[in-house]
Amino acid sequence: MKKIISVLLALILVCSLVSVVSADTSGARLDLTPSSVSVAQGSVVTVTVSLTGAEVAKSGGLQFAYDSSVFETVSGEWKLTGAMLKDFNASKSAAAIAFGSATDINGDIFALKLKARDTAAIGSTTITVTPALKNGSKDIDCAVGSTTVAIKCKTHTAGAAVKENFVNANCGFDGSYDEVVYCTVCGDEISRETKTIPATGKHVTGGWVIDKKPTLTETGLKHKVCSVCGKTVMTETIPVVDPNAPRVEVESKRVGLGRSVDVNISIKNNPGIAAMKLLVSYDEGLTLDKVTFGDIGGQSITSPKLTSPVILNWFNGDGNLAATNTVYATLTFTADADTVTEFKNIAIDFDPEDVVDINENEVEFVSIDGGIDVLKYIPGDINDDGKVNNKDIIRLFHYLSGITDEVNEAATDVNIDGAVNNKDITTLFKYLSGWDIKIY
Ligand code: CA
Ligand code: CA
Repeated sequence: MKKIISVLLALILVCSLVSVVSADTSGARLDLTPSSVSVAQGSVVTVTVSLTGAEVAKSGGLQFAYDSSVFETVSGEWKLTGAMLKDFNASKSAAAIAFGSATDINGDIFALKLKARDTAAIGSTTITVTPALKNGSKDIDCAVGSTTVAIKCKTHTAGAAVKENFVNANCGFDGSYDEVVYCTVCGDEISRETKTIPATGKHVTGGWVIDKKPTLTETGLKHKVCSVCGKTVMTETIPVVDPNAPRVEVESKRVGLGRSVDVNISIKNNPGIAAMKLLVSYDEGLTLDKVTFGDIGGQSITSPKLTSPVILNWFNGDGNLAATNTVYATLTFTADADTVTEFKNIAIDFDPEDVVDINENEVEFVSIDGGIDVLKYIPGDINDDGKVNNKDIIRLFHYLSGITDEVNEAATDVNIDGAVNNKDITTLFKYLSGWDIKIY
């Protein structure tokens, strides 16, 4: 009986193979997937056969072909269940299967184990499978499948180590490369080791970058960056400003959202200058409305637009400015009503060559930045406790009498006439006494 079945299956296979030659192969196809793309001489590779796009089948055959000087068959196994008959003839590399009824056999259908001979030639070799699928008497179109596998040495012959993936070191960062050894016969990678090239540490630095300017009470900070690796390579503290040093400084003020405030830029310890050009930068959220130069004589001018950074330039061709301490300019800022409440910086910068005496000698000055603390405030809440009541009148009175300076300055100009004086007390007093008065 078994012999009859074998003959029958062989017949199916042969008939099918004949018909496959003329079949249209636009439909189903076979894919061969080796367990490894390369196999060493003497080692086994499993080739999985999968079917896609096929209609239902009742029987099928697979005829494998490969270079017999390279491979010998170890085994073959159908991966399908429910078959009436399954067969694999290792000597002929042929497999056959039959079902009792039409069956969907798409998916992994067969696994072929091949052993590379010890004498197999090194290089690429092809394995093909020719299908013969039938649904009863009807042939099922299916393309021939194939795959290639690389045969590698059983024992490698190491070549000289080569360097790959070379990354140069620089002053700040290590470099690296892979030291790789390949087999001189089959080209297989035998070993790969990543080596580190230490950073040279020879940085290229430019000038100091100021992180924080010093003030009379707080030290500043500066650093140098390497122009090659971008690392910060030096950091130094800048000492506090000598109180006797010639300096130009910006006031720090407080103001409420939407309100205006005057900020002075003053010259201190002036040894005698006849020209000074300042570049004033200020944070977003501030609007510079007006610049009024101080009583410093000579000629003064700003850049045409007062947007940040604004230039404030002055010279006196008749002689040096005599005043030791004076206001250089007063800047009127408005804190934008929709800005965030925070400290807004007002910074000054200058080129030393633009601060000179009447003989064009540079005069060394330092600069101290200032700014405006933009505050939320409640109109009339002088003591900043969230309520508006007689405590605020008392606090404003004490403020104007020089007894305290603990006020929310943003709230002090109650009648918003630009000055803080007894009129503000009167306005607040009337407001708290039920008068129909608006306060700010
Ligand atoms: Ca209050
Ligand atoms: Ca006022």
